[in-house]
Amino acid sequence: MTHPVLELAGVSKSYGRQTALSDVSLAIAPGDYVGLLGPNGAGKSTLFQLIAGLFAPDQGDLRLFGQNHRQGGSALLARLGVVFQARSVDLDMSVLANLRFHGRLFGLSGATLAARIAELARQMGLTDLLRRPVRTLSGGQQRRVEIARALINRPGLLIMDEPSAGLDTPSRADLVAHIRDLAARHEVAVLWATHLVDEVAAANRVIVLNRGRVLADASPAELCALTATRDLGAAYAVLTAAPPVAPATG
Ligand code: ADP
Repeated sequence: MTHPVLELAGVSKSYGRQTALSDVSLAIAPGDYVGLLGPNGAGKSTLFQLIAGLFAPDQGDLRLFGQNHRQGGSALLARLGVVFQARSVDLDMSVLANLRFHGRLFGLSGATLAARIAELARQMGLTDLLRRPVRTLSGGQQRRVEIARALINRPGLLIMDEPSAGLDTPSRADLVAHIRDLAARHEVAVLWATHLVDEVAAANRVIVLNRGRVLADASPAELCALTATRDLGAAYAVLTAAPPVAPATG
């Protein structure tokens, strides 16, 4: 059996008395395309910070490529592509300069780096924009630069925390299409966190997270079958609906 690229078993994390994640278990296989769907406050960012090794779980085990952060150290991070909500490219530098810089951080240089940048630019629709300062690009184009940057080291897992935040509808649809194409090549497993159902409708699997708990983990079609609904939006609404208040007695 192939190792999962990411595996969580019984992971919990609290901030003081505020529980952010409670007994979360999940696994992502190589090349998998998984949506992490949950409303604000569900625990998505906390989960991403744990995956990135920014802090450790209070309880449970988290393994990236079969190792936990203590065992794998920074070598593990070199196999992970991360797109956080906050920007991580320089606005005044060109797209090319940004990608070169990040490639060099991973030890790439010369013809190898140039070929890698050309390949990513093609995949992310950035070829004609390489010489432009990032600042002059649209929000959607800038997010594609972020994703190209995160992929420069050929990570085994790409995690994206609400990458479409602040984008208009056409830019969001464009981003979804690029990630779907990327995922279809199965070169990298993708975990896309969002509160927007349409962004993960094309994922192989959707993990529904609410109030720190995994409510469901299945394909969009299976989630619809499970909830007797016709589309993922309706399935998500059923899954995340607050439980009915018990009638008062006495
Ligand atoms: P999401 O990314 O799904 O919006 P978060 O992981 O940001 O969810 O938050 C999960 C829960 O943890 C929320 O109740 C949030 O208020 C709380 N939380 C997140 N970060 C902190 C923090 N640094 N200190 C205290 N509470 C936090």
